[in-house]
Amino acid sequence: TTTPVTFHLSHHFASELPELSLPWQGEETPDPQLLVLNEPLADELGLDASALRSSDGIGLLTGTVVPLDAKPVAQAYAGHQFGGYSPRLGDGRALLMGELTDREGRVRDLHLKGSGRTSFSRGADGRAAVGPMLREYVMSEAMHALGVPTTRSLAVIGTGRQVQRESGALPGAVLARVASSHLRVGSFQFVAGTGDLELLRRLADHAIMRHHPDAASEENPYRALFEAVVARQADLIARWMLIGFVHGVMNTDNMTISGETIDYGPCAFMEAYDPAAVFSSIDTDGRYAYGNQAAIAQWNLARFAEALLPLFGDDRDSAVTAATESLDTFRTKFLSSYSAGLRAKLGLPDGVEDAVAAELSESLLQLFHTNRVDWTSGFHALGAAARGDAEPLRGQFIDLPGIDNWLNRWRALDPDSAAMDRVNPVYVPRNHLVEEALDAATTGDLGPVHQLLDVVQHPFDQRSGLERFEAPAPEEFGRYTTYC
Ligand code: AMP
Ligand code: MG
Ligand code: MG
Repeated sequence: TTTPVTFHLSHHFASELPELSLPWQGEETPDPQLLVLNEPLADELGLDASALRSSDGIGLLTGTVVPLDAKPVAQAYAGHQFGGYSPRLGDGRALLMGELTDREGRVRDLHLKGSGRTSFSRGADGRAAVGPMLREYVMSEAMHALGVPTTRSLAVIGTGRQVQRESGALPGAVLARVASSHLRVGSFQFVAGTGDLELLRRLADHAIMRHHPDAASEENPYRALFEAVVARQADLIARWMLIGFVHGVMNTDNMTISGETIDYGPCAFMEAYDPAAVFSSIDTDGRYAYGNQAAIAQWNLARFAEALLPLFGDDRDSAVTAATESLDTFRTKFLSSYSAGLRAKLGLPDGVEDAVAAELSESLLQLFHTNRVDWTSGFHALGAAARGDAEPLRGQFIDLPGIDNWLNRWRALDPDSAAMDRVNPVYVPRNHLVEEALDAATTGDLGPVHQLLDVVQHPFDQRSGLERFEAPAPEEFGRYTTYC
């Protein structure tokens, strides 16, 4: 038996900010097939998984069936890409279907990627391939399981259409993504560029309502909004650093106001620790290298401050002074989250002084760097070392006297191995395993993707039989390059 299905979507963004919203609809899909559905997330959103599997549901997830009360739109935004400004980017292959209210009463965007050309496509095809959309699904769900704020993935649907890429024809797909919103630094830059102060205020009020409601009652709500975003981004980047995540394309259009990670294009998990680690084929200068991410986030936030400046006060000089003061809080906030996270990774008890913790962390990172130690398994092996078995860790070192000396100093502080196991993951989506799973999916075998998902969705539970998911890529995998 089938029950008639209705999905309800609100359209606060489209209605409150029509200047940033272009009414649009998804491109027809010749033969849509549901490839993955995130049932726990569907449930969290109050959506019935079997309804989503129906033809109406698949239509909703590809943008071809529009619920009666919905107003799907392509969103306008601008952005600095690799430092160069583009005044008009926008959703060139994406759609905001509308907003859902989840079981906890939070408003969440339902957004599609790969849903066809829009007026923002600038000559590109508006489409996405199965591999990259499954990649975003795997990476974002892994990040969520690792405790990092992120957009979520609800489903990937194969369209049944081939998409043309440099490597040839690939099977097409649409990703259904869920986010607490799709407001970006680039949304503010777009509006600032119009010179419409009333619209800028409306956008900022919308962002405050949605993400930082406490700011509304502050003396200057817009400065409070800015500081709240600075704080969330500082914490986010620290979390990335602590798990060895390299975002790869930290353009201002890929930085959210909510503080969630967005856009899993060329991202990767670093294996051998190296502050200069870069994977993206187009990041030839290492602008978005692992160790540059905090500085780049701060640079992006300076662009956000510039866009908001007219709301900081009538006197330009004092507005600039206020913005600079707020921006300066980034470094302190980032360092405090990052050093607290490192302390936890080392299992240091509360009594250990900050200066001691900082020196130990710094010297361990130095040893990791010179010995090219794998970030994830290196930290996990440190937990075993705290229990008396240092061999898995020592096995990753060439400089044995160096690590032995460090271990002696660290053990004297009585590290808490159980606490370490709660913060040092066993499994991250390792580059070679992600590639292997996506290659299989591209030829129609989804088994490896499902297995990889099962592993990375429980990153702290070490399970037997999954040893190959713990180990870094074999030598022959070579240097890893990502494309977006
Ligand atoms: P990204 O680098 O993924 O943040 O994307 C930057 C811009 O390029 C955004 O405006 C995207 O909508 C647009 N874009 C990326 N890929 C495509 C595509 N295949 N078709 C149309 N627009 C695209
Ligand atoms: Mg993007
Ligand atoms: Mg992208």
